[in-house]
Amino acid sequence: MNKRDYYEVLGVSREASQEEIKKAYRKLAMQYHPDRNPEEGEAEQKFKEVSEAYEVLKDPQKRERYDRFGHSGLKGGFEGFAGFDFDLSDALRTFMSESFGFGDIFGMGGRTRRSDQRRRGRDLQLQLKITLEEVATGVQKKIKLKKLMVCDACKGSGAASSDAYMTCLQCQGTGEMRQVSQSLFGQFVNIATCSRCKGEGKILKDPCEKCDGEGRVHGDSVITVDLPAGVSTGNYVTVRAEGNVGPRAGPAGDVIMFIEVEEHKHFERHGDDILYDLPLSFDQAALGDEVEVPTLNGKAKLQIQPGTQSHKILRMRGKGIPHLHGHGRGDQLVRAIVWTPTKLSSDDKKLIKELAKSEHMKPPQNDRSIFKKVKEAIL
Ligand SMILES: [Zn+2]
Ligand SMILES: [Zn+2]
Repeated sequence: MNKRDYYEVLGVSREASQEEIKKAYRKLAMQYHPDRNPEEGEAEQKFKEVSEAYEVLKDPQKRERYDRFGHSGLKGGFEGFAGFDFDLSDALRTFMSESFGFGDIFGMGGRTRRSDQRRRGRDLQLQLKITLEEVATGVQKKIKLKKLMVCDACKGSGAASSDAYMTCLQCQGTGEMRQVSQSLFGQFVNIATCSRCKGEGKILKDPCEKCDGEGRVHGDSVITVDLPAGVSTGNYVTVRAEGNVGPRAGPAGDVIMFIEVEEHKHFERHGDDILYDLPLSFDQAALGDEVEVPTLNGKAKLQIQPGTQSHKILRMRGKGIPHLHGHGRGDQLVRAIVWTPTKLSSDDKKLIKELAKSEHMKPPQNDRSIFKKVKEAIL
């Protein structure tokens, strides 16, 4: 590629003074600056071209060499200009040193970005359904997650190459913007995160293709969580640093799992007690029986005393849910529900009518104490 004459590029005469060269450069650099011309193309080319021309002409030694030998005079061996391919970051560096009085921006002390300015990834929230049996024993769950993970192509840097970054011009690499404002009470300095680089202090000009410069990609992961016995709906578990990873290798967020205990087909939970409704026939309630009831760990036998009233609560100690904090566990409460038959043959009816003649079949009138006693036992 043939390079244009540097004086022509800057639009100055060969006799131009340093001041004239500087003025010409500033005007053109402002005009073609990438901040003003977001699309890559001609403007960027011109920006690089004027920057390169200025880098040469502002330096008396290089200018003299250029005047004598032309472009070839700068090739090879010239300190700091080996090959002399001026790229955008070089151009921007030139611009910054001119416009903001920066020296060596990459070597300046105190200007380097603090690592804690990296942006943290988002927390993930999810619902974790478990059964009452799992609540009773405690359970280890493996959960598949879709989340943003570190891009393996760029190792999270977001950069396609090692020199893919350039210093942010808006904040001059500090990641912060200072705004000074006047008020009745004096001068205020407001420090805000730089809007252009989002506090990173640098801008990616050569992004990784796989993650588009984000440094992270969508992926699946599996996390394992140990739930202790006794948890309940409304409890949640936080798994640290298993959430979305931050942009460009920023720290990962957490995973917050909200526990939802599924409805059980037999049991209703009351704190750490579980309630089971046991249907009893009239004869079982009247005569007593030994029945089998489900529990959280298999079936168990239960004695029904003769004369058991409907809604009476039978307590099976220690058959409930373990206490989440502390030792011991709740009970299984078995509520006797005396079932009234709905289909009767004429023979059945005859027998019941016969039985009803007995004075023992009459419930006590207005005696609420029986039912009160039953109710108290529930909760
Ligand atoms: Zn990447
Ligand atoms: Zn910035």
